[in-house]
Amino acid sequence: MVEEVKEYRAYRNTVADPTPHTDPTPNKPPQSRVSPMMLYVLFMGILIFTMYNSGNSARQATSWLEVEKYMLSRKAIDKIEVINGEEANIFIKKEFADSLPFKDVMKPGNAKQAAPGPHYSLTIGSVESFEHNLEQAQQGVPLDQRVEVVYIKQENWFGNMILWLFPIFLMVMFWQFLMRNAGAGGGSSIFSFGKSKAMLFDKEHKSKITFNDVAGLEEAAMEVKEVVDFLKSPEAFTKLGAKIPKGVILVGPPGTGKTLLAKAMAGEAQVPFFSMSGSEFVEMFVGVGASRVRDLFKQAKEKAPCIIFIDEIDSIGQSRGKQALFSGSNDERESTLNQLLTEMDGFETNSGVIVLAATNRADLLDPALIRPGRFDRHIYLELPNIRDREEIFKVHLRPLKIDQSIDPGFLAAQTPGFSGADIANVCNEAALIAARKKKESIDRQDFLDAMDRIVAGLEKKSKIISPEEKKIIAYHESGHAIVSWLLPHVDPLIKVSIIPRGKSLGAAWYLPEEHQLKSATAFSEHLSAILAGRAAEEVTFGEVTSGALDDLEKATKEAYMMVAYYGFDKQIGNISFYDSTGQQDTRLSKPYSEETGKLIDAEVMKLINDAYGQAKNILVQQKEALGKLAERLLQKEVIFKEDLEEILGKRSAPLKEVPVLHVV
Ligand code: ADP
Repeated sequence: MVEEVKEYRAYRNTVADPTPHTDPTPNKPPQSRVSPMMLYVLFMGILIFTMYNSGNSARQATSWLEVEKYMLSRKAIDKIEVINGEEANIFIKKEFADSLPFKDVMKPGNAKQAAPGPHYSLTIGSVESFEHNLEQAQQGVPLDQRVEVVYIKQENWFGNMILWLFPIFLMVMFWQFLMRNAGAGGGSSIFSFGKSKAMLFDKEHKSKITFNDVAGLEEAAMEVKEVVDFLKSPEAFTKLGAKIPKGVILVGPPGTGKTLLAKAMAGEAQVPFFSMSGSEFVEMFVGVGASRVRDLFKQAKEKAPCIIFIDEIDSIGQSRGKQALFSGSNDERESTLNQLLTEMDGFETNSGVIVLAATNRADLLDPALIRPGRFDRHIYLELPNIRDREEIFKVHLRPLKIDQSIDPGFLAAQTPGFSGADIANVCNEAALIAARKKKESIDRQDFLDAMDRIVAGLEKKSKIISPEEKKIIAYHESGHAIVSWLLPHVDPLIKVSIIPRGKSLGAAWYLPEEHQLKSATAFSEHLSAILAGRAAEEVTFGEVTSGALDDLEKATKEAYMMVAYYGFDKQIGNISFYDSTGQQDTRLSKPYSEETGKLIDAEVMKLINDAYGQAKNILVQQKEALGKLAERLLQKEVIFKEDLEEILGKRSAPLKEVPVLHVV
């Protein structure tokens, strides 16, 4: 409920991409005009038409009453044919051709000759009842003058054939449909099913993204450019005996520009570039993935020198042991991965094919895939620092109509922890906000609103909150603000709001400084600041609410990290149970003993109790300031750094982290 926004989370929502998109299917063959669907419809139409017209002479349906009244009584019936015991076809004698009511049926449209018949048809319930009726109606008629009844068994071979053919026809259609969907990209034929669906960028179909669209990432861009150099002039490397890498893998959190970098490479490389996503290999049919991998490498070898790019490679390259544990064994994925490994081993070093892959979960990848000789080069991308963010802002501000006052440096300073994709999102969101307000250009406030929206969600002013609840929220947020203001190691506060946003009822905004190292003191002060909301509720109202759920969750996680990962606890000592390889996820037992587990729990509880005690102490001492701040918050809904300075005085300069020589 009451949520403190402490860290800028990385979102990957709809990311605005200012760079022009490339045609996703540059190499599709032209579609033929007459689609197979049209042929099917035509075929069906003809079948149905012939079916309805077959053996359908001009006879009129009639009822038993009419048969008795007009035909039998006048002795007009020549003969009756009973077909399959279901239908009686009635033939009228020729001499009645000119008399009513038979004239219309026997000589339709004033024909000269009477139609040979049958002229009427009667659906009969059963042969017995029909015979009984006929018998009754002809009582007293001499035998030789009675109506002749012939029983005929008629095979409707045409209808039967249709009944047989129709399901087969349906199955063929269904199969074609499946094939077309599964084998898309390679035309609609069933033979293209196992073909790779990679997009090919070459001289005719160029990616429009260049390295100009990639900001920051200097080292990564350099390495990627080097790969292109390998292909363009391999002699420079091979003459010294160097082997050109076979595979390069880009690793980094989502939205840091891995795909963008690959697209830029496609745009600038003078060699063909095959691009495919890992998930496109695997289909519901067994064997397709492996066949697509084979086809991709076959095509690539034909076009060498060239680059193959596989995005999200973790979807096929996941460690084989882990797949079996979590999702049951997945043969299809495994055989696709095996094929990829075989192909990467199969082509000669220096054959001019380099495989580039991207993932955000390198720890999940199968060790066989990332060993030297396959993906031997790893390029790590990180969340951008302030300088990189400024550059990324510059790229994404380029197509926008912005106010003169916008300073990319200021925007970069406001967005620690944002990825490139988040920044693209902020720029697009700011443009949307400005457009909604019908502004001529996008100003600073639009950007600030866009950041708030991305970090904390949309403002929900219409949420119904009672005055009592509002008061509790105001005190809760003021508690966070005061404690974090007075503890020197907590990140500086920018503003506090009690306007509900997204799922939270109130929020405090901080501006984290970008440190590589964080001291144990900074951790425990941070813990106090997290728990200060609940402490403020207890100090003021003598009772706590459920509003601190999010805080408690964060505090617990952080305390466990301090004890079990960072080795901050004296009792546990310098031990870390953190596992950067991700192997531990698959283990069912914990890496520590029962006793250590108990000790960890006890130490975590102690840490949290101490931090809560510290927050409570501060707030008891500052009870007056807490009241004033909460009142102001209730009045204004949003308060800034300046309000805190007015009430609490200037914040003592945050203690700089002691520089530590850190040898890794
Ligand atoms: P991922 O690392 O998840 O593959 P993408 O490359 O798809 O991320 O990035 C998504 C979007 O974020 C890009 O289309 C681009 O608009 C933006 N972006 C990410 N990093 C950068 C960057 N370094 N420079 C410019 N834009 C970036």
